[in-house]
Amino acid sequence: MKLYNTLTHDKQEFVPYTSGKVGMYTCGPTVYHFAHIGNLRTYIMEDVLEKYLSYAGYAVKRVMNITDVGHLSSDADTGEDKMLKGAKREHKTVMEIAKFYTDAFFKDCEKLNIKIPDVIEPATACIDSFIQMIEKLIEKGYAYLAGGNVYFDTSKCKEYYVFHKHDAEDLEVGVREGVFEDQNKRNKSDFVLWFTKSKFEDQELKWDSPWGVGYPGWHIECSAISIKHLGEHLDIHCGGIDNAFPHHTNEIAQSEAYLGHEWCKYWFHVLHLNTTSGKMSKSKGEFLTLSLLEEKGYDPLVYRFFCLQSHYRKSLVFSYEGLDNAANAYDKLVLKIAALREDGEVDTVAAAPLQQQFKAAMDNDLNTSLGITALYDVLKADINDATKRYLIADFDRVLSLGLLQAAANRQENKEDDAEIESLIEQRAQAKREKDFARADAIRDQLKAMGILLEDTREGTKWHRE
Ligand code: AMP
Ligand code: ZN
Repeated sequence: MKLYNTLTHDKQEFVPYTSGKVGMYTCGPTVYHFAHIGNLRTYIMEDVLEKYLSYAGYAVKRVMNITDVGHLSSDADTGEDKMLKGAKREHKTVMEIAKFYTDAFFKDCEKLNIKIPDVIEPATACIDSFIQMIEKLIEKGYAYLAGGNVYFDTSKCKEYYVFHKHDAEDLEVGVREGVFEDQNKRNKSDFVLWFTKSKFEDQELKWDSPWGVGYPGWHIECSAISIKHLGEHLDIHCGGIDNAFPHHTNEIAQSEAYLGHEWCKYWFHVLHLNTTSGKMSKSKGEFLTLSLLEEKGYDPLVYRFFCLQSHYRKSLVFSYEGLDNAANAYDKLVLKIAALREDGEVDTVAAAPLQQQFKAAMDNDLNTSLGITALYDVLKADINDATKRYLIADFDRVLSLGLLQAAANRQENKEDDAEIESLIEQRAQAKREKDFARADAIRDQLKAMGILLEDTREGTKWHRE
């Protein structure tokens, strides 16, 4: 399998440290608000990656953190604390906010058929590991104390800007944009590992440490949680592209300084979902959540289908028109699958070339849109229906579009529809015979089935409650 590696800027053959096994780390959500559908694009594509690695025969162990402490909104570690901001907005404690939005995140994942990672670790459960790691970084000369905080000294790294050719100039832009410059730092790119002196005097969650009562910086959690559960050599690390700098850059700096050797081989970054007016935001305009799409009548799996139709390494523009197109295409696909018969034997020999087509698409840097083309080609192929159903189930282990289930629901609905139409006809007949008691009884029977009637000049119309 070839995957694009942000570290080397090219597509590389994926070869994990241990043959047959993959350790995969995913930056989890900052649980101060609902996830927006941009965040969910990243989690959908990471889910496809995990499932395809399993499909390809690897034993995958996936770990995800939950950022429930210390995520500052600015690169300079000096902006607003997102968790504290959420707690203030809702007049709740930080832990109440964290619990509520963690649950909401996993509900979204379930609706989108995103598998729950093998290990979920909230940052607040790992403070001891962070402290131990920071102590060793100080010991090794990679970190220093200044003004009550502990900083990582980026000048000690052989190469700090590993992903891009960022330089101090880029960081100055942030400073000009009104970010307060931290005078304690020896170098502009240095970042906080542990705060005891914060501009947030009302910081709720604090822990004792060798440097005083305080709380961790944002970046340390992913390094420590990854090393704790996946060991000193990580195969693949994932996240949205905005995380590449500074978050992942800082993770690499501190992990390699701590371990004394290379840490993570492959970096998988998902490009952003944007709106037609630009960056997706939780504070401006219509806040695009999965629940909002559901309220507007979209099936969450239609959103998953929308995401899989484009490549994860291209930014994607969200529009309702685009989502409507995806909904229509998904609907037609399900209809075609619902028309397949259940009889016949699976012909594995005839299935093999189509499986190869699917694998070739996914092996080429996870080309999900060509993976979906393989699905359409199954429906067109000259093979029996049992083999088609077998292949659809096989590809859907990775795509997770719930295709056979949606087709079965469609068939059930079709049978229900026939029964409803027949009852409506019986009611019309009863009315013609002036048997109003029977007509009302049928209306009640339909209501109990969740069917509402509307008598119009063109006849009786119905819809589900
Ligand atoms: P956060 O909850 O802010 O920590 O972000 C959760 C994940 O969503 C991270 O992997 C981010 O890189 C990713 N992300 C943030 N914004 C977007 C976006 N507009 N499109 C895709 N992924 C995003
Ligand atoms: Zn992270």
